[in-house]
Amino acid sequence: MTRSKRGERAERVATRIAVLGGGVSGLAAAFYARREYPEAEVVVLEASERFGGTVRTVAKDGFVLDLGPDALLTRKPAGLELCRILGLEHRLIARNPEGRAVYVRRNGELRRLPASMRMFVPLDESELRASGVLSAPGAARVFRGPLTAATGPGSVPGRRAADDESIEAFFSRRFGAEMYRYLAEPLTAGILGGDGSRLSMAANFGELVRLEREHGQIIPALRERFGGSAPPAGAAAESKAGSIAEQPAAAAAEKPLRGAAEQPAGADVFRSFPGGMCELTGALEEALREDEGCRLELNSRVAGIARGGRTVSPDSGLGAPAAGRSRWRVERAGGGSVEADAVICALPAYAASRVISSIDPELAPLLAETVYSRAAAVFLAIPTEAVAMDLSGSGYLVPRAEGGIVTACTWSSRKWPGRAPQGYELLRVFMAPPVGADRDAPADSPAVDIPGRGEPAARDASTPADAFEALTDGELIERALGELRETLGIRAEPRLAEVWRWDCGVANYTLGHLERRAEIERRLQQQSGLVAAGSALYGVGIPDCIRSAREAVDRLGTALAGLGTAI
Ligand SMILES: Cc1cc2nc3c(=O)[nH]c(=O)nc-3n(C[C@H](O)[C@H](O)[C@H](O)COP(=O)(O)OP(=O)(O)OC[C@H]3O[C@@H](n4cnc5c(N)ncnc54)[C@H](O)[C@@H]3O)c2cc1C
Repeated sequence: MTRSKRGERAERVATRIAVLGGGVSGLAAAFYARREYPEAEVVVLEASERFGGTVRTVAKDGFVLDLGPDALLTRKPAGLELCRILGLEHRLIARNPEGRAVYVRRNGELRRLPASMRMFVPLDESELRASGVLSAPGAARVFRGPLTAATGPGSVPGRRAADDESIEAFFSRRFGAEMYRYLAEPLTAGILGGDGSRLSMAANFGELVRLEREHGQIIPALRERFGGSAPPAGAAAESKAGSIAEQPAAAAAEKPLRGAAEQPAGADVFRSFPGGMCELTGALEEALREDEGCRLELNSRVAGIARGGRTVSPDSGLGAPAAGRSRWRVERAGGGSVEADAVICALPAYAASRVISSIDPELAPLLAETVYSRAAAVFLAIPTEAVAMDLSGSGYLVPRAEGGIVTACTWSSRKWPGRAPQGYELLRVFMAPPVGADRDAPADSPAVDIPGRGEPAARDASTPADAFEALTDGELIERALGELRETLGIRAEPRLAEVWRWDCGVANYTLGHLERRAEIERRLQQQSGLVAAGSALYGVGIPDCIRSAREAVDRLGTALAGLGTAI
């Protein structure tokens, strides 16, 4: 009987690692697992018909539309390091030099974010006043500090409880309610979406919390840190309109990587690719496809995992008598299962909570506390000649205090080179339902496991969130065009108008996330060979996802020790 090389290999393989989810976290985990355990077979199970998850690019009529992320933050080394290993470094492109300014809309007018902003905080009072983003008393309040006196390093002035604090509470306490409403809220919402009164400051922007704890005062600490060699205007605080900002909580945990170059002082820290962000996930997928020791499964939705595969012993390999340890069995929703010695779960939190609930019911509610923001993005291609206003910058953010559903507008073709053919501008208008309408763990339907989706089925608009969801594509395009008319004075018919909805967009870490994550990790440690990676727990930026994937592979060490030698 003849058998394919791969078939022979499958029988001989002693060690198998199953990766659940084929977003950037799952793909990176598979990639690092193959490097770390070359003797192990890696199987990636992805529910949808494509890899990449939230990373999604569409190329159409010469336009490049990044439906999800459009920037890679290089200050966190994990992303850049992976690009180097994949040979993608030469494909990285920088933002247009004139595309770095970011604006905030206040009373219908665009006001440029102060160049002195670092980590959401303006450092120069006169510049903040001149920007008009805040009123004179609002600007003065930022620099007055918290309402109770600081008592020196290590203290947290004005803070009532040692518990976690919301993003809204932190910025309002430190810098005033107006600063939160017109600066911190649009900037943080531009990264996370969601409701700042529910989101954990420590889990999302832990570096500011740490600065406060260590120095007492934040502005002097930031001045000291960035003084003289600061990145260019607004770089450390940009979001949807600009680029996603650093996630300080995760950054603090990030180990420097060998060979990862320091960013030169003043350099722009954001990069993309000529073909959009899918170049990164595409390269990962290609590397895994070319690798004989990796199996990629699309349309392979994981329904659950359980112990109970055949047993493996270090001496005798797959199928040995029960003296060894029992393998994991990963059940596919469509039938059949995959046996594995180790499982890396890189699923969105709501999917992970269902998949893992059978092995530890306590894990499910902990994971389900990570909610997901909803948003819709409308991409409009407009003739350059129809744009009267000078679009020098990356775009603008719209504070919730301005009302309406538009939250940001990215001037994609000004921000990045090559996003639109000559003579056209590509603009991306983000919209979101009113705060408080985050996506809690959705019903168990395959459609909602997949980030992003098409036009919704008709439904009642009985709540503001439902009313948002019920908007048709045509209505969303009309709202986006209305925004361009009112704010930018653009009155052209678009050459292209595309809508994309993020039903479960960015993972939102609500109050108590860090404690829950510690408890999740404690419980996972009791499940030998089961580890988690990805945005559900470890930071939403792509570098965070990649770092968490690499660290998840590191954590497999004990579970896989001694296995794999039987090949
Ligand atoms: C609009 C938007 C803009 C963003 N902008 C930026 C940016 O500029 N820069 C940046 O760094 N980050 C940005 N982010 C965040 C970043 O894109 C995400 O946090 C990151 O891509 C998440 O990757 P992941 O692999 O952890 O999860 P996901 O991308 O959600 O991947 C999870 C995968 O699991 C699959 N899956 C789900 N259920 C199952 C199941 N039961 N079985 C098998 N597979 C399953 C899904 O189909 C999916 O492919 C943005 C996000 C959004 C939504």
